[in-house]
Formats: sequence, C-alpha cells, structure tokens
Amino acid sequence: MNIPQSSLPRIVIIGGGFGGIALAKKLSKKEVQVVLLDKHNYHTFQPLLYQVSTGGLEPDSIAYPIRKVLQGYPHFYFRLAEVFQVITDNRKVETNIGSIAYDYLVVATGSKTNFFGNKNIEENGMAMKTVPQSLNLRSLILENFEQALLTDDLHERDALMNFVIVGGGPTGVELAGALAEIKKGILPKDYPDLDTRRAQINLVQGGDRILPAMSEIASSKAERFLEKLGVNVWKNVRVTDYDGKHVATDQDLVFESATLVWAAGVQAAGIKGLDAKELLCRGNRLKVNRYNQVEGFEEIFAIGDIAHMETEAFPNGHPMMAQPAIQQGEKLGENLIRLIENKPLKAFVYRDKGNMATVGRNKAVCDLPRFKFQGVFAWFVWMFVHLYFLIGFRNRVVVFINWVYNYIRFDREARLIIRPFKKQDKVSKEAETVT
Ligand SMILES: Cc1cc2nc3c(=O)[nH]c(=O)nc-3n(C[C@H](O)[C@H](O)[C@H](O)COP(=O)(O)OP(=O)(O)OC[C@H]3O[C@@H](n4cnc5c(N)ncnc54)[C@H](O)[C@@H]3O)c2cc1C
Repeated sequence: MNIPQSSLPRIVIIGGGFGGIALAKKLSKKEVQVVLLDKHNYHTFQPLLYQVSTGGLEPDSIAYPIRKVLQGYPHFYFRLAEVFQVITDNRKVETNIGSIAYDYLVVATGSKTNFFGNKNIEENGMAMKTVPQSLNLRSLILENFEQALLTDDLHERDALMNFVIVGGGPTGVELAGALAEIKKGILPKDYPDLDTRRAQINLVQGGDRILPAMSEIASSKAERFLEKLGVNVWKNVRVTDYDGKHVATDQDLVFESATLVWAAGVQAAGIKGLDAKELLCRGNRLKVNRYNQVEGFEEIFAIGDIAHMETEAFPNGHPMMAQPAIQQGEKLGENLIRLIENKPLKAFVYRDKGNMATVGRNKAVCDLPRFKFQGVFAWFVWMFVHLYFLIGFRNRVVVFINWVYNYIRFDREARLIIRPFKKQDKVSKEAETVT
C-alpha cells in the first residue's frame, strides 16, 4: 500500500462513515500514524439519500471526499480499498490493493441492507443504502413513468405507477412522503398526457405503527401527515415475496408493482476474520465492551452500526444511527491515546439527542429528550439539524439553496436519468458500482 514505516503506533480504521470520520478528526493532531481505508473515496450522508432518489438533491451534495477531510492532518493516509479479511493472529488487514499491518484496528464498516434471506426480494427489489443504489432508484422511478406513457395496457400502466415501500422506519416514511409530493406537484406537469392521479404510493409496515422507535404521538402524527399526502399506509402487513411484478404479503393483499423499495431491515457489514459466532450478536453486530473493544481483543475496536455495546440503558445495543457512531468515534479517539499512554480507559456513555423524521414540506416529527413536537417547527428543526451535520461547507450551501428553491418553486430539478437502470442488469450494475 506504500504506507511508510514509522516509529509511531499505527491505527488502521476501516470505514470513513460517521464513526470513522469522527475518530479520524479526534486523532488529527496526535502522535499516531492513521491509515483510513474505505471502498468509496467519499463519505455518504445517508439520511439524505432519499432526496437523491427522488430528484431533490444531486448526489454530490450529500457525498464528501474523504481525502479532503484528512487534508493537513500529519501522519494520515487514505487508501481506496475494500477490506476482505482481518487476520487477527498476524494483526493484518487484507484488501483488494494488498495487505497492511496494524497496531490497533478500528472496524467502522457500518451496516448493509438485510433481506432476511429472501432472495427474490433481494434480486427484484431496490435497496437505498448507498449513492449508486439511490441513483438506480431515481432512474427506475423516472423510467417507470416514461414506460407508462408508452403502454396501452392499463394494468401494466398502473403497475408501473404503483410504488411499494417496505418498512415504516424513518427511511420508508421519508421516501413515501417525497414520492407523494412528486405525484402531487411534479408528475401532472411533467406528464400531462398520463393520468398520474392513478399513481399509488404504498407504505407497508410489519408492526402496528410506523416510526416504532419514536413516541406514539410522533407515529400517529406522521401517519396522519402521510395520509394527507395520499400515501396508503398498511400496518400489520408483512411482505413475503416479490417476483418483480407481484408483491405478496402475509395478508389477503397482493400489490401489482414494478417498484418495491426494501427499507425494512439492516444488518452489520461484517468482515471475514471477525465473524466467529461468539463475536457476534443480533444483526451480526460485533460485541464490544464499554470502551468499544471487540470481545477477546485488546487491540481491535468496533464503532457505530457494526458495534453492539450492551448497557443498562441500551440492553439491545445503541440504535443504528449517526449519533452513536459519531459519539463512539470521538470517545474512542480519546481512549486510543489513553491506551497508548498506558492510562485507564473511559467508558462510553451515549448522550441521546433525540430522533426525528420528515414527511414532506412543512411536515416533520421530532422527539427530543425534553420536548416532542410535530409540524412546521419540527420541519425547520429537522432541516437545521441535517444541514449542521452534513460534512462540507459547499454541501451545506448547495443543499440549503436547493431546499429554498424547491420550497419556493414546488420543484425537484434533479429528476434526471443519467445512468439508465434496468432491473435485469441490477446484479451486474451493483457489482460494477461496488455497493
Ligand atoms: C437511507 C438511510 C437514512 C438514514 N437516516 C438517518 C437519520 O435520519 N438519522 C440518523 O441518525 N441515522 C440515519 N441513518 C443511519 C446512519 O446513516 C447510520 O447509522 C450511520 O451511517 C452509521 O455510521 P457508521 O460510521 O457506523 O457507518 P457508515 O456511515 O455506514 O460508514 C461505513 C463506511 O464503511 C465503508 N465500508 C464498509 N465495508 C467496507 C469494507 N469491507 N472495506 C472498506 N470500506 C468499507 C463504507 O463504504 C462506508 O463509508 C440512515 C441510514 C440510511 C441508509
């Protein structure tokens, strides 16, 4: 990898997501050599992926070059590399560009979509975890309407305009809201010769309420907002199969749809060599102690989505969200230096800053530790928080201008089919773009 040998202890970080970047920033001025590996050369701000999928934002406004984050940090090296395996006995990481030894290793690889073993859904459905996947979804949505214009078969036309989103968490809710707004504000103008009133947006949730991780009031308000926008919310319904045309459920309900978006589950993005059964727990997350040390290893750590830290307040691990990843990255930065200096480590304590989701224009729900509120104010708070945590000044400015423009013009101008997407090409295309 052409990383110079140095007398400084070497910390290898796998993953430049929320956790990896927070850790890198914390180590920026310390006397350690840091090697950050990621299969993408950019950090992805996942909370806004749904806006890329629905033409509200260009992908480059929610992605940020990792090299730029590290600019000016002494002893820092970034390598664009996909990690395949960790060889713990030799303290070595193997990647597609070679191998590298570590003194300390931090796994911050995040999570991936969990299809719960359903191969049909995986093959025929769409995931939205990465920028390439969001662009695929954007293309598919737009292509469906172009195709709907061409067919005389009413059945087929309806299926092309029938969207099924599986999973009533924030991702499903936000995507459903955005699609409903497109249906209302954009489709009638873009496709005057198509009866776009027949387009259906279905949000399917296995449990008895959407946004189950939020308060009851947030769930019921979000549901009311969605219904006002014309989204069909199906609760206590589980999707069991999808052949590309028919969405089967465990109820007496089948959707005919050309687009199924799977937002119903994630699992840790694990790495070979750290995948022994005894190291893993629910969702394949790596068991870590209060210092983020992977069980059984003093020199290997895991942070963020991949880490399962059991505490009294979080017996099932911390939520797979940006804040736990950022806070664990920051605390680990401190602890690694303490470890190198032979000082006692400090236990991680999560500061819960709350939870929020937007449903659309002027509609959001916020559960903050002290207050719960919904509606227009919640929407402004949601926008402010997302702008604040977005990495890069340019990205903040671009996103802010886009939002103001979209708000005033009722528009989403990034509805472009830059890279056509065909379902049958899905497997090869995703391999090509390294999901
Ligand atoms: C659509 C969507 C919406 C979301 N909305 C919200 C929200 O509103 N609020 C919120 O708090 N959270 C939200 N989340 C969750 C949040 O994004 C994650 O919890 C957070 O990104 C976890 O941070 P992380 O550092 O653990 O992993 P990530 O940020 O996912 O970063 C992991 C990094 O590791 C890299 N990587 C993975 N495997 C390898 C490998 N083998 N080799 C090299 N590199 C690798 C990846 O390329 C990536 O850069 C959302 C997630 C999604 C998908």
